[in-house]
Amino acid sequence: MKVVVCGAGIAGLAVAWWLGRDGHDVLLVERAPGRHGAGYMLDCQGPGYDAVARMGLQPLLQERAVSLSELVYHDEDGGVRERFTDEGPAGDRMVSVMRGDLEDVLHDVLAPGTEVRFRSGVEAFTDHGDGVAVTLTDGSVERADLLVGADGIHSRVRALAFGAEDRFLRDLGFHTAAYVFDDEQTARGLGDALHMMDAPGLQAGAYPVGAHRVATLFSHRVPAGTPLPGDPRAELRRVYGTTGWIVPHLLDRCPGPAEVYYDRVAQIELPTWSRGRVTLVGDACQAMSLLSGQGAGMALAGAEALAAELRRGGGDIAEALRGYEERLKPVVLQRQEEARGMAEEFVPALAP
Ligand SMILES: Cc1cc2nc3c(=O)[nH]c(=O)nc-3n(C[C@H](O)[C@H](O)[C@H](O)COP(=O)(O)OP(=O)(O)OC[C@H]3O[C@@H](n4cnc5c(N)ncnc54)[C@H](O)[C@@H]3O)c2cc1C
Repeated sequence: MKVVVCGAGIAGLAVAWWLGRDGHDVLLVERAPGRHGAGYMLDCQGPGYDAVARMGLQPLLQERAVSLSELVYHDEDGGVRERFTDEGPAGDRMVSVMRGDLEDVLHDVLAPGTEVRFRSGVEAFTDHGDGVAVTLTDGSVERADLLVGADGIHSRVRALAFGAEDRFLRDLGFHTAAYVFDDEQTARGLGDALHMMDAPGLQAGAYPVGAHRVATLFSHRVPAGTPLPGDPRAELRRVYGTTGWIVPHLLDRCPGPAEVYYDRVAQIELPTWSRGRVTLVGDACQAMSLLSGQGAGMALAGAEALAAELRRGGGDIAEALRGYEERLKPVVLQRQEEARGMAEEFVPALAP
């Protein structure tokens, strides 16, 4: 079977790995010019960890694991408000890694014949019933048995197959940002702890990534539907510019827009995940938001479920896609609901 997968993030790489292993001919197209940078720390746990284990990737992930032994809450003036010590190893069913490291591991284990084409994406497709003609952004056309949209929460494939994003996106009322910068002195000062500071309507955090780098995380309340800013760095300065602790230093080290992750905190709710010979996997169909701490894990689980159902379907694609959705959707809906339940507590309320 020939499969075009759009998006070489966690879901797309995992789908490509499973399908390549099953002997399918996979073309992975990715909009970015190359592999992504570090991104942010992900806890890979539960079904996601189990999927990683079945892929045999734990040793590779353990080598790159981010290990933090404390969570320290600061007041705005920098004083320590609360400290939580990790009571011991997180257990053998969880590993924390930087998103870029997880993607690197997935890239490195792809089947030899799998083609990854950067600076490429899906422009359009025509479903002929017995196959799908996929027009790529360079104008070339790939004929495939299946098109998989693994292109994240703002999925282009979903928009082409199902319609505009605003019909499916549930905005939880926060914007969030993350970036990494080199700074040995600050990394040393952070010890091996995740540090958080909160104030009405916002929170900022920092943690060391190895001995030389610092990762940041910012989240703040916004009215649902607030458009994303054109310049994330300027927006972070506007929102966090007057806060204390080490936030001014973190803002000074903010890189250019290409290296800053900035997005709304949102979920995707779709009545169905597949249409004809097109299906979705990962955040494109099941985004649960960072509040769940399970999006990447469930993207891995989804990739495995899709491949397993295609294997089981023995060529009956419609049946396989039905089975994939039936298998995973109940878990996704439950995780999404749990995440929404955490929204009120996530960031302190705005001052009245
Ligand atoms: C700050 C933060 C912390 C998080 N913490 C956790 C956690 O602890 N545990 C956890 O499990 N999850 C966590 N998540 C969620 C997790 O990151 C996502 O659920 C996961 O990345 C989804 O993977 P994906 O491959 O579906 O989508 P993405 O990671 O968004 O990847 C999509 C890929 O498609 C590419 N793409 C996009 N559009 C196109 C296009 N038009 N054409 C071609 N390519 C395209 C993108 O460049 C990207 O490579 C967190 C998220 C955030 C923001």
